[in-house]
Amino acid sequence: MFSQNPVFIPGPTNIPDVLRKAVDMPTIDHRSPLFGKILHPALEGVKKILKSERSAIFVFPSTGTGGWETAISNTLSPGDKVLATRNGMFSHKWIDMCKRHGLEVEVVVQEWGEGVSADRYEEILTADKGHSIRAVLATHNETATGVRSDIAAVRRAMDAARHPALLFVDGVSSVGSMDFRMDEWRVDIAVTGSQKGFMLPPGLAIVAFSPRALDAVTTAQLPRTFFDVRDMANGYANNGYPYTPPVGLLNGLKVATEILLDEGIENVFARHRRIAEGVRRAVDAWGLSLCAARTELYSDTVSAIRVPEGFDANRIVAHAAEIYGVAFGTGLGDVAGKVFRIGHLGSLTDVMALSGIATAEMTMLDLGFNVKLGSGVAAAQDHYRRSAAGTQQKAA
Ligand SMILES: *Cc1c(COP(=O)(O)O)cnc(C)c1O
Repeated sequence: MFSQNPVFIPGPTNIPDVLRKAVDMPTIDHRSPLFGKILHPALEGVKKILKSERSAIFVFPSTGTGGWETAISNTLSPGDKVLATRNGMFSHKWIDMCKRHGLEVEVVVQEWGEGVSADRYEEILTADKGHSIRAVLATHNETATGVRSDIAAVRRAMDAARHPALLFVDGVSSVGSMDFRMDEWRVDIAVTGSQKGFMLPPGLAIVAFSPRALDAVTTAQLPRTFFDVRDMANGYANNGYPYTPPVGLLNGLKVATEILLDEGIENVFARHRRIAEGVRRAVDAWGLSLCAARTELYSDTVSAIRVPEGFDANRIVAHAAEIYGVAFGTGLGDVAGKVFRIGHLGSLTDVMALSGIATAEMTMLDLGFNVKLGSGVAAAQDHYRRSAAGTQQKAA
């Protein structure tokens, strides 16, 4: 059955009509100036969203996971050492990919609910006198736990240790929804995808390389073919791809960057912050708590909500889908069954968020939770009507 209900999974996100239309394209010659008129504005738009003037953007027919592979295979060699934090399912999977590529990973193991520890990174990097660590990995927003890590602090830690490693950041569930400062934080590679903040269907890995990362491409020994950014750069210079590009999705990316920039990127971030805060107040009103350990770690794109001990959180997700036709996110990995997730990123308004909060409330009551109908909705409404006053919502 087709549902008009918004989804509250933390990606893929709701696709606004304007983007559904933008990806619906007749075939054009994909090696032509006409294609260039789609491609180059899309790449420029991504640079603006990343607050970057000096990076090169590469967009592959893939997903965020392919973006991880693009980052490591283009810049590193077998046996190279990387430093990474495991604090959730996504950071875990990137570490696993590094290992499968024959990289040596120094893993900082964090509780799920914690962020990247800049202090630990500084200690480890300071101790690495011979500079054997080639890259530092950080997941900006750990989607499994709703934890945002402080990338500026990671950069400060690297500077304090005077360490020359490259900085790779997974921004799959933050870019386009939460502030990301590629140049200011001197991020060397940023990875994202089409189906989260960009509000598109899945199918694109979007990757930004700093000039330093591009230098590393020339010496890296890991094999890469499909994800070779040199082939991609050559393609772009001729308004094409090294293979057949997903033209409709790229047109969608062009239009997605236009609507984000038209709303105003700072307004987009403020909208996500406001919506997230409403969700958090609802969680508080329900007497529940977030998986994220502290206020400063709270994500503005996804909230992972702990359920009382002994209760299986997957039942909430299953019941909401079955009875109300609304999708929430399940708990992944270490927090499976312990949390359910409300994704609140992409094309979303306060009013849409209220419908998700209301559904969660009905679901929990159905399942015998001690919540009062309207309690979370009222807490969120109170926040939205105060904070939205005088602002015009332009969410697509
Ligand atoms: C969704 C997500 C990914 C994986 O992206 P895919 O598009 O599913 O490959 C990676 N990292 C984070 C933080 C994510 O949220």
